[in-house]
Amino acid sequence: MTTTSCTKANNGGCASKVNNGGCAFRGAKMALQPIVDAAHLVHGPVTCQGLSWDVRPTASSGPRLHRDTLVTDLGEMDIIHGGEERLAAAVEAVIAAREPAGVLVYQTCVPALIGDDVKAVCQRLTARFGRPILAVDVPGFTGGRDTGSNAAGDVLLDQLIGTREPERRTATDIVLIGEYNVAGEVWQAARLLSEMGIRVLASIPGDGRMGAIATAHRARAAIALCSQAMGGLAAKLEARYGIPFVQGSFYGMGNIATILRGIAALLATQGGPADLPARAEAMIARHQTMTQARLRPLRPLLTGKLALLLTGGVKTWSLADALREMGMAVAATTLRKSSTDDRRRAAAPAGRRALVGQRR
Ligand code: SF4
Repeated sequence: MTTTSCTKANNGGCASKVNNGGCAFRGAKMALQPIVDAAHLVHGPVTCQGLSWDVRPTASSGPRLHRDTLVTDLGEMDIIHGGEERLAAAVEAVIAAREPAGVLVYQTCVPALIGDDVKAVCQRLTARFGRPILAVDVPGFTGGRDTGSNAAGDVLLDQLIGTREPERRTATDIVLIGEYNVAGEVWQAARLLSEMGIRVLASIPGDGRMGAIATAHRARAAIALCSQAMGGLAAKLEARYGIPFVQGSFYGMGNIATILRGIAALLATQGGPADLPARAEAMIARHQTMTQARLRPLRPLLTGKLALLLTGGVKTWSLADALREMGMAVAATTLRKSSTDDRRRAAAPAGRRALVGQRR
């Protein structure tokens, strides 16, 4: 049995005694908070709002709405009479004050237990305000962080993606899935893709925009940067809209080359320019030459050094590959949040040993 207790000690509301990654609400909010032009409104007591932007900052190229801490702050009278009116008033207030492109309403345990129907409220408010008000109905008691992260992808798939048409479409439009843009990684990837003539129609979720995500169903292909990102959103987009995807990483020269070759080949089969693979090869050669030159002074300092990687997911193998390219050896890596495929890749290189890691 999973037991949870409320504490502010981890700055994330309730800390599950089984999974110290936090509750499902926290997982959903972590996954969606990088959408920068949405208001992120927590429906619940203020103690649930422990997970603010400061805990897990993500970068934006424009709006900063995702950095605001917004909560309906339910009190005793709301628990007696219901919190739906308070929620509707809070949405109205945030729209009036901030003019967000949309609002993501996160359900928490208390309003879920007293029966607040956030989905119905959000549907009503979407019609009233003419912008997406999404119900992230994953209260903490439904599971741990992964439950929330998986549900976040379904929220976008079921309530946002497909609700708008792009102003223009190109034969090289892609959707980037699973990069959170903690340190501007989305921009690095988009710059390389743009150099090949590939347009990132939507990034989910890093530096994401509600309007762009709504058009993601028109992408010709997708890049999934993490096998488990947003509950396997890439595979679900393929199943629902026929958007094929490649999976890989933008860490390390070899991995970058692989993913660029993969998306170029995929787009060429989806009606994109036939010379995309050749463009990719030319660009990869150019950048690898430049990068090798910049790494040259560092090699004597790094060669032979031993690294222990405390990371998870796709980074278990991709960061290790990047370190090896700089002449380092990787003694071991943890395997938090790693899929079977991640584990296979992490275990493949000779001389590495994979450890079973703790879940965060
Ligand atoms: S949503 Fe539930 S489990 Fe999560 S912090 Fe709030 S009360 Fe705790």
